[in-house]
Amino acid sequence: MKYDYLIIGAGFFGAICAYELSKKGKKVLVLEKRNHIGGNAYTRNDNGIQVHQYGAHIFHTNDKDIWDYVNNLVPFNRFTNSPLAMYKGRLFNLPFNMNTFHQLWGVTTPEEAKEKISEQRSEMEGKIPTNLEEQAISLVGRDMYETLIKGYTEKQWGCSAKELPDFIIKRLPVRFTYDNNYFSDNYQGIPIGGYTKIFEKLLENVDVRLNINYLEDREKYNDLASSVIYTGPIDAYFDYELGALDYRSLKFEHKVLDMPNYQGNAVINYTEREIPFTRIIEHKHFDPVETSHTIVTKEFPKDWKLGDEPYYPINDEKNMDLFKKYRKLAKNEDNVIFGGRLAEYKYYDMHQVIRSALNCVKDL
Ligand code: UDP
Repeated sequence: MKYDYLIIGAGFFGAICAYELSKKGKKVLVLEKRNHIGGNAYTRNDNGIQVHQYGAHIFHTNDKDIWDYVNNLVPFNRFTNSPLAMYKGRLFNLPFNMNTFHQLWGVTTPEEAKEKISEQRSEMEGKIPTNLEEQAISLVGRDMYETLIKGYTEKQWGCSAKELPDFIIKRLPVRFTYDNNYFSDNYQGIPIGGYTKIFEKLLENVDVRLNINYLEDREKYNDLASSVIYTGPIDAYFDYELGALDYRSLKFEHKVLDMPNYQGNAVINYTEREIPFTRIIEHKHFDPVETSHTIVTKEFPKDWKLGDEPYYPINDEKNMDLFKKYRKLAKNEDNVIFGGRLAEYKYYDMHQVIRSALNCVKDL
């Protein structure tokens, strides 16, 4: 056989495995369905502006080893995510911090803010939150929930916040300082010159074939290597024999504007239910460049159907049960490893996928 490993997918999981295995002297072939490497982290250079083609990717981690690892591949800038939220023409700072509390209620001290929140969350009366709505109200109270969470969340997930698991909102920090840094992690930044550079580095000594749909011709490709690392959707691998897993999908509307600066910030969330998109990102603010034009992207959440781009896994009971059945099938596949967001059906951040891929190679 020509290769030791056949890796399906050139996103983070696949590319990290390819890099690490080839460093160990293994012969690796990566097959990628799209016409580019990088998975959803791929950035396209559009006249000097790095466009996040599949939505904003902001690297953040508390894991120093992972931070050092990615910085050894390419240099990162000091980007700090400080998104704003627009609600009925008013701007609020995110995540929930003293600036937000001041903007919403006029309070100026942490004590006043805490008093206001405890008054607002009293409707929960010590009840343990069982869904996203209750979790949000018990974190920040009703006003904040109605203004900054409810509309955004229901647009993003296409259902009532009462039907969503509380863990989604646990991602949102609440602070009693005037600190607009969205993430609490110690390390954060954007690769200078775009994410695609990371993947070029990871794959520089590896054979990569683009525009290849492995599943359509798997016998032929399996003959090329003794083991497979599969990073595509797990249900697709098994021809959806137990049914399809659900996802939430997104539609991106990219626009080139003839002005140097459209919104003055990388990310502005639109939290009103009536506005159909959830956020506008302005790419040049992630990786600053001086150009007379700018590129913005509106992000529209949408229902997912077979054939659409799968973005967010829906980790509800029904889908998790189905996933577990697929995982059982996957365990019985000889010489195939399933890894990454789509094969593990997991709401992964980039640093977590990298860690998981490194562990995977270590286990091999
Ligand atoms: N969220 C919200 N209002 C906002 C931003 C986020 O209510 O302005 C909630 C929403 O429920 C969302 C979750 O927080 O699903 C996670 O948002 P985040 O932006 O961290 O997710 P991403 O899509 O970037 O992974």
